[in-house]
Amino acid sequence: MDRFRTIIEPFRIKSVEPVRMTTVAERDEKLRAAGYNLFNLHAADVLIDLLTDSGTGAMSAEQWAGIQRGDESYAGSPSWFRFLDAVTELWPFAHVIPTHQGRAAEKILFSVIAGPGKVIPSNTHFDTTRANVEFTGAEAIDCVIPEGREPATIHPFKGNMDTGALDALIRERGREHVPVVFVTITNNSGGGQPVSLANLRAVREVCDRYGLPLFLDACRFAENAWFIKQREEGYADRSVPDIVREMAGLADGMTMSGKKDALANIGGWLAMNDDAWAEQCRNLLILTEGFPTYGGLAGRDLEAMAAGLREVVQDDYLRYRIRSTAYLGEALIEAGVPCVQPIGGHAVYLDAAALLPHVPALAYPGQALAAALYREGGIRGCEIGSVMFGQHPDGTETPAQMELVRLAIPRRVYTQSHIDYVIEVIRWVASQAREMRGMRIVEQPSALRHFTARFEPIE
Ligand SMILES: *Cc1c(COP(=O)(O)O)cnc(C)c1O
Repeated sequence: MDRFRTIIEPFRIKSVEPVRMTTVAERDEKLRAAGYNLFNLHAADVLIDLLTDSGTGAMSAEQWAGIQRGDESYAGSPSWFRFLDAVTELWPFAHVIPTHQGRAAEKILFSVIAGPGKVIPSNTHFDTTRANVEFTGAEAIDCVIPEGREPATIHPFKGNMDTGALDALIRERGREHVPVVFVTITNNSGGGQPVSLANLRAVREVCDRYGLPLFLDACRFAENAWFIKQREEGYADRSVPDIVREMAGLADGMTMSGKKDALANIGGWLAMNDDAWAEQCRNLLILTEGFPTYGGLAGRDLEAMAAGLREVVQDDYLRYRIRSTAYLGEALIEAGVPCVQPIGGHAVYLDAAALLPHVPALAYPGQALAAALYREGGIRGCEIGSVMFGQHPDGTETPAQMELVRLAIPRRVYTQSHIDYVIEVIRWVASQAREMRGMRIVEQPSALRHFTARFEPIE
């Protein structure tokens, strides 16, 4: 197979969903009506939707069969036990608590362990993780290695934690104020960059030094494991499930979105070894999600995740997944479009600050670029920059570390020709970059503004 370059999608298509073609004039109008916020668009007006890889994947025939098999018993459903087996085969934690998605797991965990005066370190907190930490009054602090903050710097494990910075933070704030250390695998907000097992071991050592638990935000654990297999010395011959179990063995718990590497459209879980924390989390679960054997889910959703977890760790799937994301990124880099490098697992991140150096950070170059991609080609991406991270709980605003536009690739959804079209559109938009203007916000909520804020172009 290695002799040929074409990416063969390791599946064939059994059921199709039409996408709708629109004109630039139509999209210009839709954009204006949406307040230049792509979250406000009707999805039917989007041609290629790269807003997120969350819950947007195509399920397999096996997963749809699981949907039919789903047992909707309120307590102790066979679907729950199939889900539990699939999770613990990879993540043998003592307690698995199903939730309707990842943020529900975060909300429950941080309600139990965070609060005013507490500090939660991570390599880079994802937006919902940060918001859930801060909602309790605690502080969310990012300790990614310096290379992880430089879009153009090549590093095989750019998602790694800066363990020196982590150690200094714990000493400075006092270990009693740090209830948990988090590591996000792969590092979504940092460009979908992987974390090495050597780094996880080093983080574990810091945690042990202070007697702190280590939790993984494991949303893209299979992609992270694939990068370890490809890039970390000594892992080339290890199976992906084995590598996942080694990551699990270094941690005390995890939060997970089933909408990512469980290949499902909804779902998530929280898992941990600590009995006392688990009991408090289950009590909250019953209050907000449901009984502990279904969480916020139907039995059929648990089946979809159980089947997805078996498929996501297969070599053929992961090779295709990582290779097809790199295909998009490499074509753009070759065309001179600035991207976060190396290309991450689930998405290509355009460097809007480098592409639009004449647009200041607080004129939101990422938002301007994302709007242009939709206008010109019907492609929907997502700003990951000062719109998403610039707003603070006290009402102040500062520029984010990077101004990116994320093009997230839904799993098993688009073919190579869809991606060739995306490449063409981006090359065109990049050729027009000098004429592009920034944006101003005309309306925004007090938190998570990227979902609902309204913008207008600056004259
Ligand atoms: C998606 C995601 C979450 C939140 O999960 P949801 O299912 O969307 O609530 C948390 N952390 C990371 C790294 C994610 O990618």
